[in-house]
Amino acid sequence: MASEPTELTAYEGEATIEKVASLGRRRGFVYPSSDIYGGLGSAYDYGHYGVLLKDNVKGAWKRSMIQEREDMVALDSAVILNPEVWIASGHVGGFSDPLVDCRTCKLRFRADHLETSSCGKRPSKRPGESPDCDLTEARSFNLMFETHIGAVADSASAAYLRPETAQGIFINFKNVTSSLRVKPPFGIAQIGKSFRNEITPGNFLFRMREFEQMEMEYFVPPAEAEEWYRYWIAERYRWYTGLGIRTSHLRIRAHDPDELSHYSSGTSDIEYLFPIGWSELEGIANRGDFDLRAHTERSGQKLEWIGHEERYVPYVIEPAAGADRAALAFLVDAYDEEEIEGRPRTVLRLHPRIAPVKAAVLPLVGNDAALVEKARGLFEDLRTHMTTEYDDSAAIGKRYRRQDEIGTPWALTIDHESLNDGQVTLRDRDTLQQERIAIEGVRALLLDRLEAPWSPRL
Ligand code: ATP
Repeated sequence: MASEPTELTAYEGEATIEKVASLGRRRGFVYPSSDIYGGLGSAYDYGHYGVLLKDNVKGAWKRSMIQEREDMVALDSAVILNPEVWIASGHVGGFSDPLVDCRTCKLRFRADHLETSSCGKRPSKRPGESPDCDLTEARSFNLMFETHIGAVADSASAAYLRPETAQGIFINFKNVTSSLRVKPPFGIAQIGKSFRNEITPGNFLFRMREFEQMEMEYFVPPAEAEEWYRYWIAERYRWYTGLGIRTSHLRIRAHDPDELSHYSSGTSDIEYLFPIGWSELEGIANRGDFDLRAHTERSGQKLEWIGHEERYVPYVIEPAAGADRAALAFLVDAYDEEEIEGRPRTVLRLHPRIAPVKAAVLPLVGNDAALVEKARGLFEDLRTHMTTEYDDSAAIGKRYRRQDEIGTPWALTIDHESLNDGQVTLRDRDTLQQERIAIEGVRALLLDRLEAPWSPRL
């Protein structure tokens, strides 16, 4: 699926990474980490709404990858594995980026990203472009974080924080096939933290040194690998669009042969058009039998499929996504600013399933006991089924604005009329339309809408 000829070249919309980061901080989604100590470069802490949002991203991934399938099992492997794992996988020898240092501005750049980097002294120039730049030759720099196990920090105790979750899956191939009812084609899916000592982290959640991955390894008979590779590219693309990402800002880019990793016979990236340009959201690779063979060789344990009449080393198709990067794409895609009746409004038009809070219950005024009681009753009922907020703290307009900024799709306002007619006003975040509905029917209606198809703004 090559890119369309009419493909966009620049992000369309009101978002910039800075605006999204600033809203994130102001509204309790994401804070710079270690803030009171001056921060720690490109590390972030998720606040209340950020936790809910990222949980929804991971929940949607687990639902489509595991719950709605019969050919998938889950795994949660350790972060620190036997260091042999990383020797076998090739990470100890080869998980590195080529780097250059600038002796003038003392910054370090990825040699393969010079075109898109900025000189430390003259940010409008590329490193090496201005006469003052003094770049070293490119050197290789291993991205794995090293640590030590036990009390003594010597070379015998050295270990690594995992730079990807995938290897935890390969080393459990035997455990899984001998304990669960699986048969190729089948997959093992896992979500977890990964750590990379990135040289040029940045752009908010896009590239951090500690981040969360959502990876799945799909084991198939070798002859079917190409077909499943195509299948997973389409399936993963569908996942993003199904959750509202604009198709105009999403593309599939096949790697050129000289870009392919040593193990891969085909890789395609799903890319999103961020305000910083087209960038990888997820990679889907046909890894062949590289990993199972590498671990068989190093561990001496045969990692193969043994059926009734067959025995082979499966090929592996790997869709590898980032939970933080996906969360950023959802936020950027949803961010909008507009003017309503002469007043500015910032709104996150998140898919309802991704939105941190689904419904807000608001008594029209907060100091009327009857309204409060009615509203609290609805709130208590709703919150056992979906994340709901109750708010009676300010003027109604201010409360709506706050819910718009955190992306709550539905606001339910209880007014004096509600006490007589048992109805509530349902305000839609995107259309701003208001409809009167029976309080009794609210829960069922919202549960229905949560499952209904939802389209992003055009
Ligand atoms: P990139 O080229 O952006 O460094 P990659 O090709 O090295 O990414 P993979 O190893 O394929 O990335 O990892 C799978 C996914 O994990 C990426 O598509 C991305 O969503 C996420 N990811 C990788 N590195 C980071 C990071 N430093 N911060 C946040 N997410 C990351």
